[in-house]
Amino acid sequence: MSGGDALLQHCRVCGTALYPRREICSHCLSGDLADVDVAGAPATMIALTTLHITHEPPLRPLLPLRIGTVVLEEGPKLIVYAAPAVATGDAVVLSVVADPDGVPVMVAAGKAIAASKLADALNEGEEG
Ligand SMILES: [Zn+2]
Repeated sequence: MSGGDALLQHCRVCGTALYPRREICSHCLSGDLADVDVAGAPATMIALTTLHITHEPPLRPLLPLRIGTVVLEEGPKLIVYAAPAVATGDAVVLSVVADPDGVPVMVAAGKAIAASKLADALNEGEEG
């Protein structure tokens, strides 16, 4: 699952990236939209926090768990899991992995992540 399926809508007319998903472009009102895979896309970490408590039992073994906001070069901001070595202001790369329930989630790290599971991805991203 890593390396794909992180789809972001782009307007084919004006090039605006759209998030959340829309029926028409918020900039030029065109309906000519296409999905672009943003896994591996460069982004910047703009905010970080650390979770020490969760109400989701499958995530408890992963605590403390870092969550961050990244801004893609195209403009949209996304909430993602953050590798331990990532700091606010760092250039990051997004990778898609499976959380403990098998749901695809994004992880930001200093490099693309080859692991397919969240726990392994956070370990792999530890080196930065
Ligand atoms: Zn447009």
